[in-house]
Amino acid sequence: MRPHKLENQSPAAEFPASAPLIDSYARRIDYIRLSVTDRCDFRCVYCMSENMNFLPKADLLTLEELERLSAAFVARGVHKIRITGGEPLVRRNIMQLFRGLARLFDQGLRELTLTTNGSQLARFAQDLADCGVRRVNVSLDTLDPEKFRAITRWGDMARVLDGIEAARAAGLKVKINCVALKGVNEDEFLALVEWAHDLGMEVSFIEAMPLGEDAVHNIESFLPLDVVTEALSRRLTLSPSTHASGGPARFFDVAETGGRVGFITPLSQHFCDSCNRVRVTCTGALYTCLGQEDRTDLRGPLRASMDGAALHAALDDAMRRKPRGHDFVAQWSGALAPSKRPMSMTGG
Ligand code: SAM
Ligand code: SF4
Repeated sequence: MRPHKLENQSPAAEFPASAPLIDSYARRIDYIRLSVTDRCDFRCVYCMSENMNFLPKADLLTLEELERLSAAFVARGVHKIRITGGEPLVRRNIMQLFRGLARLFDQGLRELTLTTNGSQLARFAQDLADCGVRRVNVSLDTLDPEKFRAITRWGDMARVLDGIEAARAAGLKVKINCVALKGVNEDEFLALVEWAHDLGMEVSFIEAMPLGEDAVHNIESFLPLDVVTEALSRRLTLSPSTHASGGPARFFDVAETGGRVGFITPLSQHFCDSCNRVRVTCTGALYTCLGQEDRTDLRGPLRASMDGAALHAALDDAMRRKPRGHDFVAQWSGALAPSKRPMSMTGG
């Protein structure tokens, strides 16, 4: 066995430079979404129930393990890491991880980013920028404080808006993620786009996916995004954009505002053929598809040896098993049972 990592040595040095991650459908995986906690300071109705049972802290990968794991992915050609959760910024000492991941820019990492509910952004925006984060996705489904409270159950919209301001002041590009919810924010799509574009921020709309204990609720509030496109097109001129984010969104330029709108449509127009990403939970379970149950344990192999051999073998095995696509449509139509695994578990 090789010796444990030396102080200040980049964890990437422990892993042999290895072959890129390519699945059995010839899709190259160069993007990971890494969940660092299943906990959150909000309880969004489409994501969590009010009384959540969270994982025992002992089950979580340590910050050092999350860093080693990320280094292994980067050694296999991953060049984009999105930190997510749960709410990533509620994990204790989370900036230690960001500082560690910043070292991977020398190893081939090109983009380090995060998805956040924004509640802690005012506190961390400058530190994130100092770690090389250039853009953040902030989830915001409404501009109405009362509706915001109803959707998030525990959230305070003013804090999120302060967080967005702090991020912009720190020079971070902010993108707003908005889940389109039937009967909830249908009347606000235009206002959200105008507000965001006015501040130089992109907006992406997301279809509610049938995930978690309350999946049925998501099916009831599901709104296909062509409804959003129609609502926006009544007032704005949308034309397909050549922009690609490396994620699943399709983009449109808006003539009147000069901004961009993205649409993430896992159900109405799925994007599995060009899937380039995998997700890792905070316990080290690798999900090669958001909408499938198959997973590969990476925590065992990660802890088995410091040289990463078992880990790389597990990654290869997972690549062979990555499914062609998700089953959301069958789940939505009732042909298949929806996944009990919430988005907060797999990482959004
Ligand atoms: N807590 C952070 C946040 O809210 O941005 C990061 C994790 S959250 C699970 C990531 C994204 O998933 C958020 O934009 C959230 O709106 C979205 N999300 C959660 N559950 C969803 C669902 N069932 N369908 C569609 N999007 C969902
Ligand atoms: Fe928390 Fe994000 Fe899930 Fe809302 S969507 S409950 S903020 S993890």
